[in-house]
Amino acid sequence: MMSIAKEAFGTAPDGQPVDVYTLANQQGMTVRIMTYGGIVLSIEVPDKNGVVEDVTLGYDALDGYIAKNPYFGALVGRYANRIAQGRFTLNGVDYVLAKNDGPNHLHGGLKGFDKAVWTAEAATHGGAPALRMRYVSPDGEEGYPGTLSTLVTYVLTGDNALEVRYEAETDRPTVVNLTQHAYFNLSGPRAEIILDHEMQILAARYTPVNDTLIPTGELRPVAGTPMDFNAMHRIGARISQVEGGYDHNYVLDGGGGELALAARVHEPLSGRVMEVLTTEPGLQFYSGNFLDGTIKGKSSRVYPKHGGFCLEAQRFPDTPNKPEFPSAVLNPGGKYTQTTAYRFLTA
Ligand code: BGC
Repeated sequence: MMSIAKEAFGTAPDGQPVDVYTLANQQGMTVRIMTYGGIVLSIEVPDKNGVVEDVTLGYDALDGYIAKNPYFGALVGRYANRIAQGRFTLNGVDYVLAKNDGPNHLHGGLKGFDKAVWTAEAATHGGAPALRMRYVSPDGEEGYPGTLSTLVTYVLTGDNALEVRYEAETDRPTVVNLTQHAYFNLSGPRAEIILDHEMQILAARYTPVNDTLIPTGELRPVAGTPMDFNAMHRIGARISQVEGGYDHNYVLDGGGGELALAARVHEPLSGRVMEVLTTEPGLQFYSGNFLDGTIKGKSSRVYPKHGGFCLEAQRFPDTPNKPEFPSAVLNPGGKYTQTTAYRFLTA
């Protein structure tokens, strides 16, 4: 049965109550989302034998997320990924942001959207169970200009996709780049690391980075390099040739605008397949390089290096300082939209 249920899930550091919503469809897929950080707590989907298991990393309870969250399941904003030196100039005005990742700004700053308590409303979208989440970020929050009114709608479709539909409006010119930061291990409990997952990314180019992971501005062909995922192959096949592991933005062939297939992942033990479709021009592939076994997650599971992977649909990193990249500017009267779907199948 398709359903949406709500339960209390604790209290945020600022005293606000946090709720968890459980969305279920007729195919046996269940998604749990909490209002703290808009965090997806779990995605339970059938394997090739119909066994339903959670395919995401995270914690059992709210306190884990509050104490230390490497963005497990989180809604990331206002600007996902990095902004060099924590500064940018817009219409001749300099804006200064927190440097919370070495010399750079990462994922919206010290208290990004991943740590905000969102208001939520159970809904339906095209007949499917949905959750509408709102957060109004005040002018100047984390150094960003403009009051940003954000609506994120999570939809659990009848064909086992979790769709994330983002909308935002501002009252002053600003920059916006929202994403979903779920970490996946499609094997469920079977494999500790994700290097045996096979993956395809529909991108002929990527944005190479400097030693602090800021793009150089170049759009470099992947052909003939370990970055090339055009043909489906093991994530681990060439990862040792990539310094630090994969943590790169791919320039999607779809180009952004229309919802298009960006990536496909196959996990051989479970037979699970995940397709990522997006309207965004970029996709960050992060192979969980900074996980180091110090986090005790769900059911006391420890997440080692490469214990999960992320596919974050986005504008290119550091776009506010790279006029040659597709713009991330939002003006008053305009509307930011982005849609990304994670669809689960078996093969
Ligand atoms: C980034 C990684 C970062 C991680 C934080 C990813 O989006 O690309 O560099 O360490 O988020 O958990």
